[in-house]
Amino acid sequence: MKITALAGGVGGAKLADGLARSLSADELTVIVNIGDDFDYFGFHICPDLDTVCYTLAGMANPDTGWGRAHESWVVLDNISKLGGPAWFHLGDQDIATHIERTRRLKAGESLSQVVKAFCKAWGIRVNVLPMSDQDVRTIVQTKGLGELEFQDYFVRNLCEPEVTGFRFQGIETAMPAPGVIDAIRQADYVIICPSNPWVSIAPILSVAGIRQEIRKKVVVAVSPIIGGQAVKGPAAKMFHELGIEASAMAVASQYKDFLKGFVLDTLDTSNIDAIKQWGIIPLVSDTLMKTIEDRKRLATEILSFCYAINQ
Ligand code: GDP
Repeated sequence: MKITALAGGVGGAKLADGLARSLSADELTVIVNIGDDFDYFGFHICPDLDTVCYTLAGMANPDTGWGRAHESWVVLDNISKLGGPAWFHLGDQDIATHIERTRRLKAGESLSQVVKAFCKAWGIRVNVLPMSDQDVRTIVQTKGLGELEFQDYFVRNLCEPEVTGFRFQGIETAMPAPGVIDAIRQADYVIICPSNPWVSIAPILSVAGIRQEIRKKVVVAVSPIIGGQAVKGPAAKMFHELGIEASAMAVASQYKDFLKGFVLDTLDTSNIDAIKQWGIIPLVSDTLMKTIEDRKRLATEILSFCYAINQ
């Protein structure tokens, strides 16, 4: 069974890991958002790609979901003592990733080539692809502070400014990275991971051709909103500020033009009728992934669901 999954960072990485543990290596491709990428100290930083790769490699920090396990902070502490910026947390092991990625990009490698090399070095067997090799930057439009680069909104301003919209700088010229369109075409099922619909999945779907290809496939999405709340991050707050009640149903509505199946939490059964009205088949499950076992169980249930809805 060939699966292509779309993922942002923390929520996406957990389900991608569950899928990787449930499928053989050549059965899974994960297409990852790069709209959160930014430059810091001259390094090219790819938070979502790193979160997905660290998680798949078993190297992620289990407490935060991002960054490396057993991390130290010597470099950042010393930068801070010198009066440098320390608002974005870069651990020592993580910094090595950014230094080497930036060196390779400057030497002319594409982002997807770098990702491939890093995955090999880290022992990741499934196929991980950035959505594009060209820069795309998510810009968050806010009430008080105007337009903010994503990490400026997310980390520096702690997601506090009220959101009025988003734009994806560079999206007009960004092409899908090599292998992205083929991975979608060859997939039996496309799975949209429980990632933020506004700033993790929307940028991927906005790259030329991706949405059009996905519309031809059997697509199943998993809700990142459980009981009206985000498990982590600003997804629910974004829905509210955009005038939409945060719910599993509101997530399904974002994808309803191409969704065949939708996985929602046991806390959200009141949303089922609305979802069915759109012709989408619901699967109710315990979607909170606290442990590796949870990731595997949810992934297995989703794979069985994919198979069942296509019969
Ligand atoms: P980010 O780029 O690190 O914010 O990563 P994502 O967009 O992939 O993930 C953020 C979303 O994941 C948030 O909206 C969370 O609610 C959701 N999320 C995190 N953990 C879980 C989980 O265990 N289950 C579900 N259903 N959603 C989750």
